[in-house]
Amino acid sequence: MNRQPAPHFGVRTRLIGCVLLSSISFCTAFAQAPSSEIVEAVVVYGDHKLIEQDEVLTDEELSTMLDSLCTLDPAPQDLIRDLRLFQRIRRMDQSQMITLIDSLFELDTVPYALVNEINLYADQMPTRQAVEESGVQTWSHHVDEPGYELYGEWNTVSPNAYGVELSSADSILQLRLCDPGQDCGFSMPVPPIITSRFGYRDGRNHNGIDVDLEVWDTVRAAFPGVVRFAGTYGGFGRLVVVRHFNGLETFYAHLHRIKVAPGAEVDAGELVGLGGSSGHSTGSHLHFETRFKGMPFDPSRMIDLTTGELLGDTLVLVRTRSSFSAYPKGARFHTVAKGEHLSAIADQYGVPLDALCSLNGLSQRARLRVGQRLMVLCSVSSSHLAEGSALP
Ligand SMILES: [Zn+2]
Repeated sequence: MNRQPAPHFGVRTRLIGCVLLSSISFCTAFAQAPSSEIVEAVVVYGDHKLIEQDEVLTDEELSTMLDSLCTLDPAPQDLIRDLRLFQRIRRMDQSQMITLIDSLFELDTVPYALVNEINLYADQMPTRQAVEESGVQTWSHHVDEPGYELYGEWNTVSPNAYGVELSSADSILQLRLCDPGQDCGFSMPVPPIITSRFGYRDGRNHNGIDVDLEVWDTVRAAFPGVVRFAGTYGGFGRLVVVRHFNGLETFYAHLHRIKVAPGAEVDAGELVGLGGSSGHSTGSHLHFETRFKGMPFDPSRMIDLTTGELLGDTLVLVRTRSSFSAYPKGARFHTVAKGEHLSAIADQYGVPLDALCSLNGLSQRARLRVGQRLMVLCSVSSSHLAEGSALP
């Protein structure tokens, strides 16, 4: 059998479970197949594609399949164990799923694409209706301490000023990135040459994106707001934190020079510092974070990192067990079918290939798997889009 070596212990077993999870439709081929075909299908799993059908395997079919596998002689023990794990994962609720995802961070190396895909799986909710019924975070025009109503404090001493209880009652909310009544703008802090994305990287969790720059390059505020923190802080080095009028906070780290002081009002595009390599940094770059109520979320869900422009004017934030998940409002999922490739999917939705790749953290040459879920954001709604699962 041409499969990966079977895992034996706790954490690795959980990882394989996730591989199975992300390959949810790998099992569909087994559904009605006679036992001999099942074994044949297992042979190709892990090597090339396995899927011949795209229906969802029900729990009942999965049980039947497991029963039939157990009658084989010799029984394919590895497959049976993996499928039992898969069966357990399918029954997990969202919080159990998040615990599972968290456990991935204990591993030495995890492929980012896999983590991303698991996140998409866990992110099946909310429905469009839930989003429409959710509250819209209003813009504060409290020019001294924006978002005070939301945060209840204005801390200029620590960038990490908030406890988890601040957002514990939140579920779904919409964050307007631009005030409809104002020309508030958005400015990419530096031109978007991304050297590291948000998420699990090199054995640690990366709470922002890294953007290439030269020392002394201008770093600009992303939105209008007020500087909450400006100073040296641990691995961030020289850091500026701006709180915006919708409650969003942005972090600009590893600066060479800080050009603003706490309390200073800044406009979108206004200078906050000069790029550098201070703090825990190898080579000059900007470490840029986006946070809401102290919880970092992926900036690539808000900004098109290929163009440096906003993906949309509204961001949907969903409180998860440990953070917020962010989606551009109007995004939906596409489930990859047999024979599909990235450029065909981009064409189908009328979106640029590089934007599709950026939104999903994929290279343009990435190989897709059947059943893999891609986030798609298109500006024009058309009838074929109804096939995609509705997301915010
Ligand atoms: Zn970074």
